Amino acid sequence: MNQSEKILKKQRDFFATGVTQEASFRLEQLNKLKQVIQRFEPAILEALHHDLNKSELDTYSTELGMVLSEINYLTKNLVSWMKAKRVKTPLTHIGSRSFIYPEPYGVALIISPWNYPFQLTLAPLLGAMAAGNCAILKPSELSPHVSRVIAEMMSSQFPSEYIAVIEGGAEASTELLNLKFDKIFFTGSVVVGKIVAQAAAQYLTPVTLELGGKSPCIVHKDAKLDLAAKRIVWGKFLNAGQTCIAPDYLFVHKDVKEELVEHMQGYIRNFYGQDSQTMLQNNDLTVIVNDRHFQRLITYLERAHVLAGGGYDEKRRFIEPTILDQVDWNHPVMQEEIFGPILPVLEYEDLEEVIAQVNEHEKPLALYFFSENKGLQDRILQGISFGGGCFNDTVMHIVTPYLPFGGVGNSGNGAYHGKSSFEAFSHQKSILSQSTQFDLPVRYPSFKYALQAIRFLMK
Ligand code: NAD
Repeated sequence: MNQSEKILKKQRDFFATGVTQEASFRLEQLNKLKQVIQRFEPAILEALHHDLNKSELDTYSTELGMVLSEINYLTKNLVSWMKAKRVKTPLTHIGSRSFIYPEPYGVALIISPWNYPFQLTLAPLLGAMAAGNCAILKPSELSPHVSRVIAEMMSSQFPSEYIAVIEGGAEASTELLNLKFDKIFFTGSVVVGKIVAQAAAQYLTPVTLELGGKSPCIVHKDAKLDLAAKRIVWGKFLNAGQTCIAPDYLFVHKDVKEELVEHMQGYIRNFYGQDSQTMLQNNDLTVIVNDRHFQRLITYLERAHVLAGGGYDEKRRFIEPTILDQVDWNHPVMQEEIFGPILPVLEYEDLEEVIAQVNEHEKPLALYFFSENKGLQDRILQGISFGGGCFNDTVMHIVTPYLPFGGVGNSGNGAYHGKSSFEAFSHQKSILSQSTQFDLPVRYPSFKYALQAIRFLMK
């Protein structure tokens, strides 16, 4: 038995005791998790700074704060979500009652990426714990300091038969994926998502896939341009563009392109530094995770028509917030998810062209549409399939527990956050509780009028 198998076996035995199913246990563990996160806060901040040079503001708002507020929301609502939900019963089942009982899957595997390495490991875990599961976490090897802190933090607070962390890269994932889990929750690239889905298929394990892709941001001519520019610059360059739901590319109506770009240039200066020199010397800005991704990103800048930024510092793996012009779908930057601080701008005249072009590609994880026109917003909603998004904003739909977060098609399947996290890790067990006080004869072949009665009741 390898280490993964041993831990899985221990977790199965622990789950079988039924302890994790009790509401008091779940609430106590979520509170313990909150306490240990608060205790480890300095170490978490330091690790995120080490791996990605994240500032304290970004770390708090997008990593720690999100997880802590999600714990509060889950603990407040958990007991009511756990209750068996009574539903209607049809006339054909007279005498019986029906209810839906959410039960934990059992042992869950959570595999996470490096870009928000803390939040994207912990947020699914909260769902797994709230739903009464045991879990094994596999953080990303590309953010090794955060991976280490998560492992230390978890082992200091939880026994491995309940929550365990296995560190490592693809080999560690592969070893885990060869085992039979009751639920797999994967966040990462489309390529690896397919590997995970295949591995899950061998045991028919339910799987949530939180993937990526190219998320469009569309600015129509009636949009409030200054505000649109501010919100796009923030959402795109947050975490150096290494955000799964960052606007990947911008489609702007040709009448307002120049003005929008001017506002965006202004906000880049305002948020990140007045000039290239200042930005390149600013050690507080998030950097690109590793050399491979840095080299991939700077090739997009070769021979490009740059409207803002374009500079970089190879030693620090820093790339200035950059806007590219004269881009079409054949440009290399449009061939894959950018996942960095580079925003190509395409222009359009007719919104229908945009809808057609987006629909020629894979279904995006997010879509942002800036317009004051409700009719056009409805047209986008009805005309393009995407995971989720915002009208007149970017990224913010992820930061609410009331909206399920997830992709569709190539950008993933399943969703989480808030109640959806609880549901992602629960099986909805349907129960019909029949009366034994009487037994209507209509369904039995010995009943003379069975067919007529069934025809009458089921028409
Ligand atoms: P990735 O798919 O390379 O890695 C994700 C995880 O899978 C890591 O833990 C890694 O160790 C593991 N892994 C890598 N190769 C594997 C293999 N062959 N077999 C099994 N496991 C393997 O993704 P990444 O580079 O860490 O993250 C970036 C991607 O994640 C982007 O595409 C981004 O859009 C996406 N993402 C999506 C969301 C979301 O919520 N939908 C959030 C963040 C990132």
